[in-house]
Amino acid sequence: IIRSGGGDILSLTTEQHKKIDRHALINERLPLAIQNGELSVVYQPQLNLKTGERNVYEALIRWNDEVLGEVKPYELIPISEESGLIHEIGDFLFRTVAQFAAERIKEEPNFQVAINSSIREFMKDNHSVTLQSILNEYDCPANAIQIEITEKFAFQAEEQQSITRQMQQLQQLGITFALDDFGTGYASFRFLQTLPISIVKIDKSYIQSLVTHPQTTKLVEGLIRLCHSLDIHVVAEGVEQEGQFKMLKNLGIDAVQGYYIAQPEAF
Ligand code: C2E
Ligand code: CA
Ligand code: CA
Ligand code: CA
Repeated sequence: IIRSGGGDILSLTTEQHKKIDRHALINERLPLAIQNGELSVVYQPQLNLKTGERNVYEALIRWNDEVLGEVKPYELIPISEESGLIHEIGDFLFRTVAQFAAERIKEEPNFQVAINSSIREFMKDNHSVTLQSILNEYDCPANAIQIEITEKFAFQAEEQQSITRQMQQLQQLGITFALDDFGTGYASFRFLQTLPISIVKIDKSYIQSLVTHPQTTKLVEGLIRLCHSLDIHVVAEGVEQEGQFKMLKNLGIDAVQGYYIAQPEAF
């Protein structure tokens, strides 16, 4: 409790206390949850509009804790990035996905799983070597893996060099890279120019206003054309309604993902 000059009491609201406690509890319980295998992964398919196939699945992390209840990725990921546990989570995710993809690709040669990766993970010098050895361990072909990266972080020029180098190494192995949440960061176009990106995922905030805002329609239309001129495959995320789906199809998008197509599911 902080007493201000006037004598009135400034204190944290109950809501704020709850938030701090939850944050601390997540930090406390997460290491054990990882050790005990309490994290899980669900998969959401994309529908490829050019081929009609659903052979790309995005892996999404889930954590249901007996004390905390469901911990959503938007809480879990930032907290684990802060504490450094993101590396353990990334390791768990990649192993789970490699095992799943190795099985599925036996039946479907074009099968791919897309994983979300914090660009921070690529700041580790040996990240590409680690991923490669996990793929070997599970006998998973590199071309079964897509990595979705976001542009949430600003990084230094030296860091960018190391990140680019590691991405190039992985691309040479056969991994494809998608730029996630396109249009929400501040360096989207520079990323397209400098990183080995072959897929762009248009952020769901644009898809939400696609039908109602003619400006958004124009923007998305232009974006698709621009990406195609660079040989980049374009995916829309967060497609929830038929109207959005039809419009995206008319605009020539390559693939769609969202509740309109399918919910994420456990396998
Ligand atoms: P994202 O990469 O943008 O993932 C898509 C999110 O949209 C997922 O939320 C998914 O469940 C949700 N979604 C799918 N279809 C629809 C739809 O039609 N409408 C709406 N409104 N939402 C839809 P989720 O699973 O809560 O994940 C949130 C974010 O957390 C992800 O956003 C991703 O950036 C991050 N994330 C999830 N799993 C991982 C992970 O294993 N590692 C890392 N580094 N980040 C992860
Ligand atoms: Ca994603
Ligand atoms: Ca996204
Ligand atoms: Ca998003």
